[in-house]
Amino acid sequence: MSPTDGQGNAVLRVRGLNKSFGSNTVLRGIDLDVPRGKVVALIGPSGSGKTTILRSLNGLETPDAGTVTVGARGTAGNGANGAGGGAGAVPQLPELTLDFGAKVTPREVAALRDRSAMVFQHYNLFPHMSVLQNIIEGPVRVQRRPRAEAVAEAESLLERVGLLEKKDAHPFELSGGQQQRVGIVRALALKPQLLLFDEPTSALDPELVDDVLVVIKELAEEGWTMVIVTHELAFARQTADEVVFMDGGVVVERGPASQVLRTPREERTQAFVRRLL
Ligand code: ADP
Repeated sequence: MSPTDGQGNAVLRVRGLNKSFGSNTVLRGIDLDVPRGKVVALIGPSGSGKTTILRSLNGLETPDAGTVTVGARGTAGNGANGAGGGAGAVPQLPELTLDFGAKVTPREVAALRDRSAMVFQHYNLFPHMSVLQNIIEGPVRVQRRPRAEAVAEAESLLERVGLLEKKDAHPFELSGGQQQRVGIVRALALKPQLLLFDEPTSALDPELVDDVLVVIKELAEEGWTMVIVTHELAFARQTADEVVFMDGGVVVERGPASQVLRTPREERTQAFVRRLL
């Protein structure tokens, strides 16, 4: 089945994802669709399985069952305005389906990783490398792109987030908000089909949160396809097209951001949203 079936132009299609850690069943039959150029926010209590979904989409966890399909880029554009090297500049890769119920090869996992890029809660920058080295490491070493090209792109992305003058600094010399903007640039430099954000602002001091949220909002406007795990419900309401509420390893409720966050149908969603908003 193609990820575009009945979905218009889906970039991501997840079906029946299951995952246990020992006797702890963490994901119980997760389905998720992300149309091209759309933003899906994953919300829910701590321990509900949100991070495990993201990690599964980036090849960092291996689910026990289910399929993940990352779609090929559509021929009629990808929902982005295409200008300025944004989502429109992402190269086309063939559609990929991993069936975790069968044996998944390291090559398939590498291909999945090549299509998605993760922005981590704690930035996960390499401490011994400069900002620039952190950004070009993936493009040059993993994707085998020419170094000069990777450097030029990294510099232009750094300029965009106001950090070009920090390119030779090391992560410890930057604030948390600056490190996270480098984390975002590092993900963009991989030219992924899909951007994954795992609570990108929850480790930041409150006064630094907005600097990072502004960058993510701009990416949404540019047409990047994104899945964002977040506790920032006001941000989710402004930025996400769809909100998915999870609890106990299942999707309890999903729908347009304003509906799920303002007028949730399910009691568990209502209780959660009331606590956070
Ligand atoms: P959330 O992101 O919603 O807070 P997680 O996906 O991080 O939830 O975790 C879901 C559950 O899986 C938790 O009970 C957590 O303890 C467990 N878990 C996550 N990663 C591991 C791991 N590597 N080993 C064992 N248990 C894990």
